[in-house]
Amino acid sequence: MQRTHSTSNHRALIDSFGRPIEYVRLSVTDKCNLRCFYCMPKGFKSFEEPDNWLTFDEIGRVIAVFSELGVQRIRLTGGEPLVRHNLAQLTHRLSAIEGIKDLSLSTNATLLGKQAAALYKGGIRRINVSLDTLNEKRFAEITGGGKLSQILSGLEKARQVGFKPIKINMVVMKDTLKEDYERMLEYCIQNDFTLRYIETMPMGTPGRDASNQYQSLQSVKQQLMEKYDLVPGINTGGGPARYFRIHGTDFQIGFITPISQHFCETCNRVRISVDGTLYLCLGQEDKLELRPLLRAGISDEDLKQAIINAVARKPERHEFNEKPGQVVRLMSMTGG
Ligand code: SAM
Ligand code: SF4
Repeated sequence: MQRTHSTSNHRALIDSFGRPIEYVRLSVTDKCNLRCFYCMPKGFKSFEEPDNWLTFDEIGRVIAVFSELGVQRIRLTGGEPLVRHNLAQLTHRLSAIEGIKDLSLSTNATLLGKQAAALYKGGIRRINVSLDTLNEKRFAEITGGGKLSQILSGLEKARQVGFKPIKINMVVMKDTLKEDYERMLEYCIQNDFTLRYIETMPMGTPGRDASNQYQSLQSVKQQLMEKYDLVPGINTGGGPARYFRIHGTDFQIGFITPISQHFCETCNRVRISVDGTLYLCLGQEDKLELRPLLRAGISDEDLKQAIINAVARKPERHEFNEKPGQVVRLMSMTGG
C-alpha cells in the first residue's frame, strides 16, 4: 500500500514497506578518471551521450521537487563527480534550494586539490573519499593506474579548506591484507578522518566482476577487536554504516556490510543517474525515467505524483546473495 502524509507544506515520500525516503544520491556523470576494477572495467567506453545528461537547470528542478516531497539530504556522486565541468555552480544552486539541509559529495579526490575551495564555497561541507589502500603499487593496480600521492594531497587540501567530517571509504577485498586495513585505520586516526570499511558488491561486469573479490567484514571486525577495544559508536550521517568507537577516543569506524548483514529494511534513499533515471534500488532494475518527462514539459505537480508512484514501487531488498550472477549495472552508472 502506498502512503504519503502531509506536513504543513510538505508531502513525505514513504514506500510501500513504510520506509521514509529522505535522501537522494545524484550522479552528475558516469565518467571517471580512474578505473577501479570492481566499479568500471578497463577499456569501458559506453558512456552516456552529453545530450542525455540532465542539465543543471533540470537537476535543480528535480531536486527542488524532491525537497518539496520532504527530501533534505543530497549526495553528489558518479562516476567521478569532479570531472563534470563547473560542478561548483551546481552545488551553489542546490544548496540554495529551501529544504536542502545537507549537501555532500563522494569523490576519488584526484581533483580535490584544484576544486576543494570552490566546492566548499558552493555549500558542500561533508565529503567521502574512496581510498582502498595506502600502498602505492596496490593503489595503481586497483584503480587502473591512479597515483596515490594525488589522493593524499587532495585530502590534505580538503582538510585545510575546512571540510568536516572527511570520511574514508575503503572497499575491503579478498586479497586485502590485515596490514592494509590496519594501516588505513592508523592513517585515519592520525588525520582525524572517519573510516568506513565496505564489502565488495557484485556490480562489475561479467568476467571481471567483483563477486570473486568478496570478503565478509565480520572477520575483519573480529581481527580488529583483537588489537583495538571497539565499543558501539554513534551512527553519523544516517547511512547504512554500523559504527564502532575505539574505547577512550572519539575515533569512529564504520562497517558497511551490504552482503553479510544487509540493511535494506532501513533503506532511506533513491538514486538518480546522469541521464535522469530514478533508480529505486542499487541492486534491482526498478526505475522511472525522469528526463523524457522533463523534456516533454511535465508540470511540477505531475512530476511529484510520478515520483510518489515510483517510490511506491521501491523493491523490498537487493538480491545480491540469492542471485550472485545477476550483475545489474556498473556502480559508476547508477551513482554509488
Ligand atoms: N568516484 C567516486 C568515488 O570513488 O568515491 C564516487 C562514485 S563511486 C561509484 C562511490 C563508491 O562506490 C566508492 O566508495 C566505491 O568504492 C564504491 N563502489 C564502487 N563499486 C563497488 C562495488 N562493486 N562494491 C562496493 N563498493 C563499490
Ligand atoms: Fe571511479 Fe569511483 Fe568507480 Fe573508482 S569507484 S572507478 S573512482 S567511480
